[in-house]
Amino acid sequence: MEEQIISVKNLTKQYQTEQASGVRNISFDIKKGNIVAIIGESGSGKSTLLKCIYGLLKVDSGEVLFYGKRILGPDEQLIPGHKQMKMVTQDFSLNIYAKVYDNIASMLSNTNVQSKHAKTMDMMEHLHIMHLKDKKITELSGGEQQRVAIAKALVSDTSVLLLDEPFSQVDALLKNQLRADIKRIAADTGVTVIMVSHDPADGLFLSDELLILKGGELLQKGKPSHIYHHPDHIYTAQILGNAVVLNTEDALKLGINANKAHVVFYPEWVELKSSWNSRRFEVKDVYYKGFYEELLLERNGVKIRAIQLNRGEHKKNDHVQANISHFLEYNT
Ligand code: ADP
Ligand code: MG
Repeated sequence: MEEQIISVKNLTKQYQTEQASGVRNISFDIKKGNIVAIIGESGSGKSTLLKCIYGLLKVDSGEVLFYGKRILGPDEQLIPGHKQMKMVTQDFSLNIYAKVYDNIASMLSNTNVQSKHAKTMDMMEHLHIMHLKDKKITELSGGEQQRVAIAKALVSDTSVLLLDEPFSQVDALLKNQLRADIKRIAADTGVTVIMVSHDPADGLFLSDELLILKGGELLQKGKPSHIYHHPDHIYTAQILGNAVVLNTEDALKLGINANKAHVVFYPEWVELKSSWNSRRFEVKDVYYKGFYEELLLERNGVKIRAIQLNRGEHKKNDHVQANISHFLEYNT
């Protein structure tokens, strides 16, 4: 049997509010050493879930287990938070007047000064922040501060790293680097990573397992590529890949005879062809996306989107032939 480091069982945590809040009846397991990404829009319960796992919130019902042992709530122990876990939030919680080195070293005890130094240096090396060693936190960029925060979280024998919106302060280039770092560190150290984000680009292809949260409920969990290609809900296709959603009537106007209420496809499933006669679309707009373009296409008053890899091949007001090579159908 594979080793489950964390098991979340029928977890419910509601806040005392008029409307539904928090998370409801959530269950999943996490394998040791895995990177788990939890994706959901703002207010979907991501931070609540992380805090319950860490032991910062008293749960209403259900439980979270760490190697089979129930994680205690804040009312059950003196210092809330599980000892073998660390949480890095958007505010980083760094001592901004202290140097990078001291921020990280402060997590370790003084009983073995030599080992304290070695571990601190090792962790800085790992996160490529050695050159920042003697800088104060106030002298660092957001991305650099984040690296220090992660180094600080990992330096003291941490088994589970919880990251709440880890990339929200970071520019695209650094994001890529940090993603790769997290993956490498997880592989090197065996630390289990649970990260939450509202932006699927943050964790989708990094994670071993992906969880989709909506309105406090777990919609789907699985391998990122599986969820992407087989989303159980329209919402999942929309949040992961900005999918096009058509009702039956509109689908029919494009020549798709749907069996269910909605037809759903990703823009990259639309093939732009020059040889096919029956599907003529007008290019209504072209969105620059870096190495590709997204085209807004219209036919019989129905708008869809498609990916164009050869930039400039089809321009605004051009007519193109588009074949929706593959699509999904949903009842709701
Ligand atoms: P996310 O991190 O995905 O943005 P949260 O877990 O912070 O979502 O919040 C989930 C839901 O619970 C939201 O509707 C939010 O308004 C509500 N909520 C979060 N924290 C509290 C709180 N301390 N008191 C009342 N409601 C809260
Ligand atoms: Mg949050």
